[in-house]
Amino acid sequence: MALHHESLVSLQSLLRSKKCSSVEITQHFLKRIEQQNDAVNAFITPTPEQALIQARAADQRRAEGDDSPLLGLPIAHKDIFCTEQVRTTCGSRMLKDFISPYSSTVTERLDHAGMVSLGKTNLDEFAMGSSTETSYFGPSRNPWNHDYVPGGSSGGSAAAVAARLAPIATGTDTGGSIRQPAAFCGLTGLKPTYGRVSRWGMIAFASSLDQGGLLGYSAEDVALALSSLCGFDPRDGTSAREPVPDFFTATQCPFRTPLTIGLPTAFFTDELNETVRTLIEDAKTVLSKWNVRFVPVELPHLSLSIPTYYLIAPAEASSNLSRFDGVRFGYRCDNPQNLHDLYQRTRQEGFGREVKRRLLIGTYALSAGYYDAYYRKAQQVRQLIKRDFVTAFENVDIILAPSTPSNAFRIGEKRDDPVDMYLSDIYTVAVNLAGLPAMSLPMGFHNGLPHGLQLIGNYFDESSLLHLAHQYQSLTDWHKQIPRDCD
Ligand code: GLN
Repeated sequence: MALHHESLVSLQSLLRSKKCSSVEITQHFLKRIEQQNDAVNAFITPTPEQALIQARAADQRRAEGDDSPLLGLPIAHKDIFCTEQVRTTCGSRMLKDFISPYSSTVTERLDHAGMVSLGKTNLDEFAMGSSTETSYFGPSRNPWNHDYVPGGSSGGSAAAVAARLAPIATGTDTGGSIRQPAAFCGLTGLKPTYGRVSRWGMIAFASSLDQGGLLGYSAEDVALALSSLCGFDPRDGTSAREPVPDFFTATQCPFRTPLTIGLPTAFFTDELNETVRTLIEDAKTVLSKWNVRFVPVELPHLSLSIPTYYLIAPAEASSNLSRFDGVRFGYRCDNPQNLHDLYQRTRQEGFGREVKRRLLIGTYALSAGYYDAYYRKAQQVRQLIKRDFVTAFENVDIILAPSTPSNAFRIGEKRDDPVDMYLSDIYTVAVNLAGLPAMSLPMGFHNGLPHGLQLIGNYFDESSLLHLAHQYQSLTDWHKQIPRDCD
């Protein structure tokens, strides 16, 4: 079997049994990136030279007896994680040539674990979007059908993994940006509990919501890499001091029964897309093979999550992105006439339309006279949404939901209708407002495009999510499907 058809877990055993070297695996993926990246625009910056240096170092470590679990395995990084040696663009003209003076904790931890970085992947500008169309570097394309979006904002990472240009990739999820592209591209994506993964060196969009995670082929593959990503980091003030389990071992345990799975009544209404409803019923039938009980759960404030998110996220973004002023780093306009002109033209020329829209909304919501009516109110509603989940988890182990209202949409279809675009996050944003862990896994296809099933877990209980997802994947093969041109 060609190396790009192997799961991360099987690439690990090829390395461990010395049937393959990291250099061979890395060269294989680099060649695929060279030949196929143009078709999907998954990578903004492939890094072949650095990758081969890391691969040689990994082979050397292995020759000296090191058998670390991730040693020599390739990965792609969303271009929102700062990397000292390689430019970090965040999909923006503002950071087109930006080289960070330090690396993010996420990339640093994976480097130390011996992973080989194949390059930096495309994303919506500053992670604002649901389609990767707002990237300064052009949209990524869905490997299942190039006329469709791969989702966003981690669309480049999703396209890279689905097109078999990398066996796994990092992403970030502020309101769904790991789960939604995972759903659109037929992948397994996990957004950990807020605070589980350090945000140090991850360019901030909305700091109280942003969380790094992974997109891969299966729950097993994601679990394999996840433990190295997680853990307390003194450089991130919101990093949690929770012990990190061995997630891979957690996937392999026998099924713990009985399990109670909650179905939010607010999601399973008449408005739910018929295909999504049918595929979820099929998934429930599969899960019923174990001693699983499905119960309705009331989350009374769920319907307020889109307006709440689209106030809080832009408000935090307007504060975070004030640092891009043409003075400190990033883009600077030509021949500024005075300080005001410098600020104004730098931001006017450096940011794209969607980012500007968010900055205007956010600045407005935070301004004197409106703060109480909008921002404070949104924070209060956020607490209600969070409380709903806390109450629900007193009676259920996991909550099951759709990942997205439909499967992937056409490139350009929602570009000029921001509200329609925002509504595509309807099933994902509440999880970020509450800070919970959640994942999306493939549950079937419609018109040749994948659909995602969402599992939401209790705080710091990623293990239960990965375990259930792995059980589901041991009985289904949706996650093993490969887009036609990727053979
Ligand atoms: N689609 C959402 C937004 O545009 C979520 C983005 C994200 O999770 N980074 O804000």
